[in-house]
Amino acid sequence: MKKTIVFIASLGAREKKAHIFEEITSSCPGNDYSSVLYLTPTAFGEAEARRQFFYYLKGRHRKTTYIPFHSISLRELCINLYEHYGEKAIIPEGIEPLLLCEIMGEKNLGYAVLLAQLLSKLRNYILNVDIPQIKEEIKKLIFEEKTMKRALKSLETLELYEKRLEEGGLIDFEGALREGIPLIKEHLEPELLVLDGFFDPTPLELKIIEALIEKAQKSLVLLEEEAEFLRFFEAHLDKIEKRQISSVTRREGTGYYVYPSMEDEVEGIARGVKRLILEGKRAGDIIVTFPQPSVYLPMLKRVFQKHAIPLSIAQYDLSNTRALIALLDMITSIEEDYPRNDFLSFLTSPHFPQVPQILREWAVSYSRRAGIIKGKTAWLSMRDILLNSTEVTAEEEKLINEVQRGINSVIDALEKLRETEDLTSFIDEIERLLHRFGFWDSLIGQSAQISETINKQFTELRYFSGICGRFKSPEDQGFSETKTLSGMEAIPYLRHLLKGLKGRDEGEDGVRVVPYEFAAGLESEAMFFGGMIEGDFPYRPDIDPLLPERVKEALGMPFLEYYLDRQKRYFRRLLNVSKEEPYFSYPSMEGDKVFLPSPFLEWGKSLIPPALNIPSEEEILLREGMFRRRDFRETLLNGQLQRGKEVERLLKKHFGKNVFISVTDIDAYRRCPLRFYIEKVLGFEAELPPRFEVEARLWGRLAHKTMEYLYRDGDIELKDIPNRIMEGLELAIKSREIRTIGDFWSKVAREIFLRLIPMIETQEEDIKKQGFSPYVVEKTIKTGINGLRLKGKIDRVDRKIKDKRYKIQDTVILLDYKTGSIDKDSLQLPLYALMWQKENKGSVERVGFYSLRNGSVQWYPAKGKGMEEFIEDALQDAFGLLQRLRKGVFTPIPFRDKECRYCYHGALCRGAK
Ligand code: SF4
Repeated sequence: MKKTIVFIASLGAREKKAHIFEEITSSCPGNDYSSVLYLTPTAFGEAEARRQFFYYLKGRHRKTTYIPFHSISLRELCINLYEHYGEKAIIPEGIEPLLLCEIMGEKNLGYAVLLAQLLSKLRNYILNVDIPQIKEEIKKLIFEEKTMKRALKSLETLELYEKRLEEGGLIDFEGALREGIPLIKEHLEPELLVLDGFFDPTPLELKIIEALIEKAQKSLVLLEEEAEFLRFFEAHLDKIEKRQISSVTRREGTGYYVYPSMEDEVEGIARGVKRLILEGKRAGDIIVTFPQPSVYLPMLKRVFQKHAIPLSIAQYDLSNTRALIALLDMITSIEEDYPRNDFLSFLTSPHFPQVPQILREWAVSYSRRAGIIKGKTAWLSMRDILLNSTEVTAEEEKLINEVQRGINSVIDALEKLRETEDLTSFIDEIERLLHRFGFWDSLIGQSAQISETINKQFTELRYFSGICGRFKSPEDQGFSETKTLSGMEAIPYLRHLLKGLKGRDEGEDGVRVVPYEFAAGLESEAMFFGGMIEGDFPYRPDIDPLLPERVKEALGMPFLEYYLDRQKRYFRRLLNVSKEEPYFSYPSMEGDKVFLPSPFLEWGKSLIPPALNIPSEEEILLREGMFRRRDFRETLLNGQLQRGKEVERLLKKHFGKNVFISVTDIDAYRRCPLRFYIEKVLGFEAELPPRFEVEARLWGRLAHKTMEYLYRDGDIELKDIPNRIMEGLELAIKSREIRTIGDFWSKVAREIFLRLIPMIETQEEDIKKQGFSPYVVEKTIKTGINGLRLKGKIDRVDRKIKDKRYKIQDTVILLDYKTGSIDKDSLQLPLYALMWQKENKGSVERVGFYSLRNGSVQWYPAKGKGMEEFIEDALQDAFGLLQRLRKGVFTPIPFRDKECRYCYHGALCRGAK
């Protein structure tokens, strides 16, 4: 070991890096620092070193232009070296589990990931011992047979994996690190080597570091007094110079803040940060960190944006970005037969701008209305479902046709992916699809790093496609036969590669949001550490199903206690990174979950969060609005349309004296004028998520069509009723407007009718006994009565023929089939009776709602009331209602309170009961 200076920083020491920088500047007079090799454990540490060196030179030496040192992470240095001088090709890190899956002949990616992690640990912690030797050790350490078999099986797979790599002239990342050591000795000779930020390097990393120090002419090492790394130098004390950096403030513990919820906690952190900024602190000198950043980041971004606080996020999960989510939604759409939410999310994502605009605007609403849950067939039949289940204008029909064409073209394009035969054509096709729908263009600019990362994953998958054949071997006992991986089979692999991708915000001026491991190595003015929940910090790794903890300990690998102790040491460092007292916090609850504080915190030292009067602009505006106290109640839904020519014109057009008004519309207006206005005049409908059930209107049509068929060709014998109903049902199911209900619901419909038939037979017999027989079905009728123009459709008319010799007129009964509940106050039947009598000879004896729930008929008029009176009352009501309708009165006054129970407008409506 040549000249080595080790700077040992006490907890709470400040400006630690300045000591190293001072040595660098004195060793390199002038502006050229290119002879310095500056090594850090991570890329974040490397960027941080460059940044701080710049500020150091600017502040201490008034320099802003210089030739920078060569900074790189340890792993990257070794990989670069191996790529340059090594003999084998390095395989990308992400595809290791994929290759393991191919070796095992099963797509158990979860298990393969565990195997890859185990291999990485073996390579990093157990040096100079190969897998067969480890297997022998394990046989001695594990007595339980099942556990031992499991451990041995995993090691055998890893052995085979290494063999395949060797045969293919390939090497993985950890392998390249290990084989990079002789290359360091042969090819590197740094003039000045700097090691900064290493806390607990693995034995493999220590070997690499040792080789580097051996070759360097001079080495500078900055480490902390509690770092494991210090032990390495203790073995070489005679050859190193030790310099102590003393602490300025050393803390052993501190209080912590308790918030009622995560949202309150993030609000508290935001206000605390804002206070510091208002007091003059630079945002970049404030750190915010969490043990589980992915849980907090979306909320943090939202709340900090509300308070106009800029953020600079060192590392975040790209899988949570909208672009990645949109891409995965596209893949799920193809893989899982177009589930509604995923497919809609793909169609409307801003990251697919070339999806036809009309789909972006209408697909959500129409698919809801059509009740689509999933299924290519359902999407391709959306038009038919809509046109057959709702009344639409010609204009809307045109729009629906266009939306359907758009859906067809998108599904057509996506289906090409399903047709790909191998992995390479799958990747080509998916890239083509992304181009076609404008995905890459949407990432230009701010999201360029996402584009780069996804492209990198596609390259890795392509690489895997090139070599995966070599990893399959029919002669290997227990492993599958060689077969080509088809395109669709590769989807889980692509998903795996797109999972857990890391991104970072390039901006450096915001409050720094960093993982706590990074935060522990930084110096700052203030540090906020939120989410200190028991179970999250310290975090207990999941139980390892491959190797028991005590075996790992015996083999010298990290085990449970090691991880817990490591987090404890991180906590001690975090107590001392900021000048100001650190700000630890946790939420005591989230929803119905109750949390306890981290055991690292001193439970007696909980603090009440300060009440900071630092409102956001949004809060100021809300407060101002409240002070003005404007009352909008009169403007909103007062039930009376503003008078004006345009309103008069529209009312006349829709409900004027020359217009035939549907009887069912008058009835709807009677039930609630405001609801009628919203749904029938404005045409608004509540869009509810489709459920797994037949839409009520579709079921109504099916039942009506079936009953219409029953007497379509005239009367039939009672004994023929069951067959005729089932025939009608089959025809209805196959009809264009109904066939979309699918096999399951068709079966349900058959069962319902089979159960209903005996009840219908009884009812039909009863009608026949009264002398009536079917006369006409689905009768459209239009008529004018005292200036009232009405239209409607009567489901069924049965006639009793009287004796013509005595000139006695025929009488009829009118029937209306109902699949839903019956409204006894409905004006429908008396008005139909009136209309029938006006247009036909003979009188209406009775009218009835024919329930298709229980096959019974509810007859009207009720006892004690004659038909004439029944009709006259309804006519008077209809006149009154129409007068109000023509005046534009749409009051929120329901006919009965229960109307509001099934109404979707309650949230907006003043009349809601
Ligand atoms: S909530 Fe009641 S009053 Fe309001 S629109 Fe609906 S049915 Fe009418």
